[in-house]
Parts: sequence; structure tokens; C-alpha cells
Amino acid sequence: MDPHENSTLFDKFSEFQTILSKDSTYSYWCMPLTGNKISWMVVKYHAKGKKYAEETIFKQSDWGEDAAETMSYEYRELKTTYGCELGDLMDRTPKGSMVKVMLEEKFYKTWYSGRICLMGDSCHKVVPFGGQGANQAILDAISIANLLVELESNTVPDIERAFETYYKQRAPVCRSVVQMSSRVGNLINRKGWLNDLVRKAALRHTPRWLSQLANDKMSYDRPQAEFLPFVSVKGALQPRPQKRSKYVPFQSKEKMQEKFLDNYL
Ligand SMILES: Cc1cc2nc3c(=O)[nH]c(=O)nc-3n(C[C@H](O)[C@H](O)[C@H](O)COP(=O)(O)OP(=O)(O)OC[C@H]3O[C@@H](n4cnc5c(N)ncnc54)[C@H](O)[C@@H]3O)c2cc1C
Repeated sequence: MDPHENSTLFDKFSEFQTILSKDSTYSYWCMPLTGNKISWMVVKYHAKGKKYAEETIFKQSDWGEDAAETMSYEYRELKTTYGCELGDLMDRTPKGSMVKVMLEEKFYKTWYSGRICLMGDSCHKVVPFGGQGANQAILDAISIANLLVELESNTVPDIERAFETYYKQRAPVCRSVVQMSSRVGNLINRKGWLNDLVRKAALRHTPRWLSQLANDKMSYDRPQAEFLPFVSVKGALQPRPQKRSKYVPFQSKEKMQEKFLDNYL
């Protein structure tokens, strides 16, 4: 967008806005981004119960570009704080980049069986309000790779033992991320005077140290690949300590790159 049409794009900081409808079941979000862009989102709630959601809404065929466009007609006339309607932002959204996604949350108890193991959204699906889904999926992948490097044999019992360790390492933090994202989602989105009160109290009066404590809890378990040289972690919160893999002796980064090139090129 031309920043002369929308002065928020000149601002030093991005003012991330969530606008809640008083009497209805939606909220809408506007986020100024770098490169003179505005990102927007409409969240619609389905209060008809789990069965309705699973049977009627949860169909992949409904998520395409056409579905997003059909949904967008309902919300075009919403007023933004930029002096234009949401429809103006929709019209300026590049064709094909508008999507409709079904948001769900669930923490599954079963993550593995035999040689099959789940990670990411397939075993802990979070609503995006905590910004954690992809983060935790990546950490799952690193954690499982560390265990596969150490695998004693490729028999099912050894593989299952590795999967069990992976589950024990990752499940507690993923469970609390699902809960935390759900709480943040409710805090931001729920309607009614009581929720308004809770929202105001939480957003205005939560001391910084308390929100830092919650962030630290999620960030403690952030493994690195144990079969590569560790990177030093800057910042105050150090992650859970890790041991270097016994199968890959310590080598300098340059030496490892040399070896990689010898083996694979
Ligand atoms: C609106 C929104 C905002 C988000 N914001 C953030 C954020 O700020 N930070 C963050 O960390 N996370 C965020 N997330 C969450 C993040 O996108 C997911 O947690 C992450 O993509 C999960 O990765 P995954 O690999 O587990 O699953 P996916 O990315 O869903 O990958 C699964 C893949 O499997 C494919 N697939 C499915 N079925 C089959 C099949 N039968 N055969 C073959 N392939 C198949 C799918 O097409 C897909 O490509 C957000 C999500 C949404 C919806």
C-alpha cells in the first residue's frame, strides 16, 4: 500500500489490532507489516458444538480460495481504524493469497505405535494465538532426530523405545503450549462483560515478570541437533542442558562441511 494513504505504515512500531464485535461471533485483526503491507484476518466462531464442527465444517474441500472468497463477502463492510472498510483491504490483497483455515485445538495422548510416530500438528494442534504451532513442530523434529541418531538397532522395540523417550521429552511442554494458546485465544476473543473485565485486567495489569515466567516455561525445552556443533545461546534464559551425540565426535564446522562435501558431492 502507499503509506500516504495509510499513515500507520510510517509508524516505527506495528500496532497489532484485534477488533471484537459486541453482539456477534467474529473478531477481525489488522497488522501493519514491513514493506508497506497490511495483513488482516477474520476469525469466525462456531458455537454449535463439536459434532457440528467435525461433520459440517471440517472438510478440506471447503478450505480453498473460493471458500475464502465466499466467506469474505460477509465481512467486507466492517470498519477498520484506518478509515476504510475491510473490503478495501480485501480488494488490495493479491489474488490467491487469501485463505480459509479451520482452527482447532487438541492434545492427543497417543503419539506413536510400532514404527510410526507423529509430530507437530498431528499430535498437538494449537490455535494460532500463542504463535507456537510451527515452533513446537520444529522442536519435535529436532528431538526425534537426536534420538534416531542414537538408535541401537532398527528393530521395532528399539524404535519404540526412542519414540517413548521422544514422547516423554516433548509431551509436557506441548500440552502446556496447547493450554496456553487456548487461554490466550479465549482472553483475546471471548465476549461478554465478565470477559471484558478479565481481558482489561490481564492486558493492562499483568506484571511483566509474570508474562515472562509463562514465556520462559515454554522456551526452556528448545533442543538443538546433538549431532552438529552446538550454537551458543545468547539471552538470559538458557535452555535445558543437552549432551553431544556419542556417534558424531566433535569437529569444527569447517571440517564437518568438508566431510559432508566429500560424502555427498
Ligand atoms: C492462521 C495461522 C497462523 C499461524 N501462526 C503461527 C505462528 O505465528 N507461529 C507458529 O509457530 N505457528 C503458527 N501457526 C501454526 C503452524 O502453521 C502449524 O503449527 C505448523 O504448520 C504445523 O506443521 P506440521 O508440519 O505439523 O503440519 P502442516 O504444516 O499442516 O503439514 C502437514 C502437511 O501434510 C500434508 N498432508 C495432509 N494430508 C496428507 C496426505 N494424506 N498425504 C500427503 N500429505 C498430506 C498437508 O497438505 C501439509 O502440507 C499458524 C497457523 C495458522 C492456521
